[in-house]
Amino acid sequence: MWSPRKVLVFALVAASSFTYVHVLEFCQSTHHDCNSDSHDNKGSKSKLSQHTVKSRWNMSISNLIQDLDQFRVSCKKLIEAFPIDEVDGNFARSVKHCIFSKSNPTPLKDPLRLAATSKDVIEGILDLDVAVTQSDDFLHFASGGRLPLGSVPLAHRYGGHQFGYWAGQLGDGRAHSLGQYTNRKGEVWELQLKGSGKTPYSRSGDGRAVIRSSVREFLCSEAMHFLGVPTSRAASLVVSDEPVIRDQFYNGNVKTERGAVVLRLAKSWFRIGSLEILAQSGEIELLRKLLNFVIDEHFSSINSDDPDKYLVFYSTVVNETAHLIAQWMSVGFAHGVCNTDNFSLLSITIDYGPFGFMESYNPSVAKIILKGYVDIYQMRIHQLFKAKLGLLGEDEEDGYLIAFLLKMMEDTKSDFTMVFRQLSEVPVQQLHNRNFTQMWAFEDLSSHKLFSDWLSKYLLRLSRQQNNSDLDRQHRMKNVNPRYVLRNWMAESAISKAEMNDFSEVELLYHILSFPFVTQETAEEAGYAARPPLWAKRLKVSCSS
Ligand code: AMP
Ligand code: MG
Repeated sequence: MWSPRKVLVFALVAASSFTYVHVLEFCQSTHHDCNSDSHDNKGSKSKLSQHTVKSRWNMSISNLIQDLDQFRVSCKKLIEAFPIDEVDGNFARSVKHCIFSKSNPTPLKDPLRLAATSKDVIEGILDLDVAVTQSDDFLHFASGGRLPLGSVPLAHRYGGHQFGYWAGQLGDGRAHSLGQYTNRKGEVWELQLKGSGKTPYSRSGDGRAVIRSSVREFLCSEAMHFLGVPTSRAASLVVSDEPVIRDQFYNGNVKTERGAVVLRLAKSWFRIGSLEILAQSGEIELLRKLLNFVIDEHFSSINSDDPDKYLVFYSTVVNETAHLIAQWMSVGFAHGVCNTDNFSLLSITIDYGPFGFMESYNPSVAKIILKGYVDIYQMRIHQLFKAKLGLLGEDEEDGYLIAFLLKMMEDTKSDFTMVFRQLSEVPVQQLHNRNFTQMWAFEDLSSHKLFSDWLSKYLLRLSRQQNNSDLDRQHRMKNVNPRYVLRNWMAESAISKAEMNDFSEVELLYHILSFPFVTQETAEEAGYAARPPLWAKRLKVSCSS
């Protein structure tokens, strides 16, 4: 499988060959410092000071932007920091000696429809009044036909190891960075359109994305945010009637689908593959420049004068990637294409493709974890699963209790999300009475021959948690064990409707998944916490998008 550790070592050692290589120091900073949210664009050297931001927004601190003409991005920083591709034009080619190529989006053709927006992103990040999204201007902005002020669209050059092999140049083959937006909180976000046409990195692709994959990316990136997992965000989804030809399951069954564009955001879209391509092609000076830029802009805890800064950076990326994957595991998320081109240097989840939320518990996903990750990953997994079980303090049998439960879940193919959720909702007294009616996932689990042994151990462990009421335990557990995740069958049903221009279910899912830990009537009516329908088992997801 993929090997980010190896390639990062390669890339970083290449870049830091002029330094003395000392023992790799693991990042000792707090969760806040190491967390993706803190890989902010506010390194001390470059950050817009809080003061500047406040005075800039003082006049209209509570007012949102009402008119898209007032919305401005900047590409200056990205363009000035690096050499730009010297070749002009949108034709596919091998690109050298640059980080970005200038490339204009190819607008999606009318008729365009706004299928979904994330109010949380539109208002909370982009400072736009959500009413703005109802304008034609917004529709064209969000589908590549109207550039925001200040935009010089860029396609990023990166490579990647895919399924263990060096895949060479990949790059933004159907995505355009529109520029960075500094919002009133002083956060800097890079806006990207995905599905917005060909770039120099399109290879044989058409530069487009279809409705089904775009609905999935829109919904899942927002759902992951509300689950508390570091992720890119999605602002909007625009669909068109523009035909896009796809062989969804690579079996010769070619179909005409429809094009769509997602407007997505991240603090940075740099990936492990952004470094790899420079290391692979021997562009060491440029590699050093990119590393310095990423460290200065996003890793404020790393001192730019530290002679070991590349190694500290490397260990931070390793640690944070392990943390991210542990968080994926704790909500049963499988990315589906764990290649280095899809792994963010900020350790956020990016490039949603054939992902899924695990239903029947199947631990083989965890094999992607590399040797070097094991300790930190195990430690994080242990903490996260203890929280999922409502366990306080440390007991030497905790690891066993967790492993025992997971093994029973595997044997009985119990639903991953609902076993933990139902355990969060059930009073201890009911567990003592072995009364599991109305608990479909827990009923499956309880069919295991060792279930009683496990339950006795669990109840004993809970009973040792003094000064902690059962209501407290339930409350804590409900806050980490979601009741709703984006199951493939749910996405599929919303996609079928979206393909008929009925976006109601996309909207419903967006709202429900914005509160994944709260029981909601509409969600219950839709069966989103019920046993998945039988047809869900037949569903397959595809890399074709
Ligand atoms: P993904 O699997 O979506 O992460 O894409 C892997 C690489 O293929 C990236 O460089 C994408 O930009 C590129 N790619 C995927 N689909 C297309 C497409 N339809 N047109 C152009 N490039 C594409
Ligand atoms: Mg990708």
